[in-house]
Amino acid sequence: MEAMGWGRYPKTTADLIQPVDSQALQKFISSQKKSASCISRGSGRSYGDSALSAQLVSSRFLDSFLELDEQQKVLRCGAGVKLGDILKVCIPRGLFLPVLPGTKAVSLGGAIAADVHGKNHHLDGSFCAHVKQISLVLASGELVTCSERENTELFRATCGGMGLTGVIVDASLSLDSIPSSYIDQRSLVANNLRECFEHIQDNADSKYSVAWLDCLATAKNLGRSILYLGEHAPSKNRRTDTLYRERSHLGVPFSTPSFLLNKTTMSLFNTSYFGVQKRKRRSTTLGCDSYFFPLDSISNWNRLYGPNGFLQYQFVIPSEGALEGITSVLEKVSENGKGSFLTVLKKFGEANENLLSFPKSGYTLTLDFKNEPALFPLLEELDRIVLAHDGRLYLAKDARMSEEVFKASYPNWERFMSIKNKYDPNNRFASLQSNRLGLTQ
Ligand SMILES: Cc1cc2nc3c(=O)[nH]c(=O)nc-3n(C[C@H](O)[C@H](O)[C@H](O)COP(=O)(O)OP(=O)(O)OC[C@H]3O[C@@H](n4cnc5c(N)ncnc54)[C@H](O)[C@@H]3O)c2cc1C
Repeated sequence: MEAMGWGRYPKTTADLIQPVDSQALQKFISSQKKSASCISRGSGRSYGDSALSAQLVSSRFLDSFLELDEQQKVLRCGAGVKLGDILKVCIPRGLFLPVLPGTKAVSLGGAIAADVHGKNHHLDGSFCAHVKQISLVLASGELVTCSERENTELFRATCGGMGLTGVIVDASLSLDSIPSSYIDQRSLVANNLRECFEHIQDNADSKYSVAWLDCLATAKNLGRSILYLGEHAPSKNRRTDTLYRERSHLGVPFSTPSFLLNKTTMSLFNTSYFGVQKRKRRSTTLGCDSYFFPLDSISNWNRLYGPNGFLQYQFVIPSEGALEGITSVLEKVSENGKGSFLTVLKKFGEANENLLSFPKSGYTLTLDFKNEPALFPLLEELDRIVLAHDGRLYLAKDARMSEEVFKASYPNWERFMSIKNKYDPNNRFASLQSNRLGLTQ
């Protein structure tokens, strides 16, 4: 089959293996030739090539809910269960996932493997901070469990380890209580990047915080933005508070011609979006889907970038250099006549101990770019800016970072390798990304 990530670049052909349970998975892994490699595949919502290889092990059928302890607020379920399905079960019980990425289509296994972050990293850390235990099939075919206390090094390498230590079969995680399924949103307008940083800083105790930036604004308007702050809304009516209303979907049935996306259309979009949002009411109450997953309301929106797909570029820069570094990135993007519809800024809290996790204390910016040849030299220039400010790129979004850039910015990669070599000496688990980054070749 043809396989690709959410960015639709790169594309490859792969065999899809779909084990129905852990025994079938163990049998498949143990029966593999020494030289054969494979990689886990969840919902394919990583953008680049982290879930691509000649053999993909799908978690699609590892999708059972195994245990829910409502008193202790602990859920155990299969790695293939999607975060949206967890919400469907949890919200009516007044429970909630402590960390949510920007789409609910992500699988539990994919959320752990990328140690995903949400709009509350500054307060609650990343997804794996709430994972209590993981069951994993290793390269030997053995099924083991790991946690903060048991097989700790394997746990630290698996959380954020992009599927390179084994296949996650199931996991248990802690849940939060919520008073209602609604979010009280407040929005603040910032006329430039410095003002946006100040708003974020002044509202550092807000539970959720994310800014949309007009990436094409320049000079004194550079970084003009809308900061969206969110809190769980208090309970108003017990009967309806914890109803979970999923939003209906519009779809993009086919790839749009990529010439529709150019600097003029992006500039029009960015300017009018900023103008409309600036005039909107500053406070509103939204359903959970509208606040956390606005993009999910248009299925296959990734086709809007045309047949060659797009690349998402997400980096983090420590706070001291963030204003300067992000300014340089935005200037470089605009100088090169490139633009992004979706440019998002968030603040991260402290890094955790997981060896390849992306977040570290500072600011993270995300930009989407249409895939075209002139893009790659620009992204290399952006890499140099990010590295010069002690930053790094997110593996779940990456499709082209060089081995040098990766190794210079992920200081724990050698510790990761020693654990990888211990549990998977023949690189049974390898992706196009891990080969490119020098982790498996
Ligand atoms: C619209 C959109 C918004 C997003 N917003 C955010 C965000 O706000 N924050 C954020 O952190 N990320 C975000 N992401 C990225 C996404 O959360 C991650 O890429 C996540 O890993 C995708 O999970 P998946 O189930 O689709 O996994 P896949 O894309 O299929 O795989 C991703 C990685 O996980 C590994 N993996 C998957 N399943 C398993 C398993 N069972 N065992 C071992 N390894 C496994 C794969 O090998 C691969 O390395 C977003 C993505 C999209 C499309």
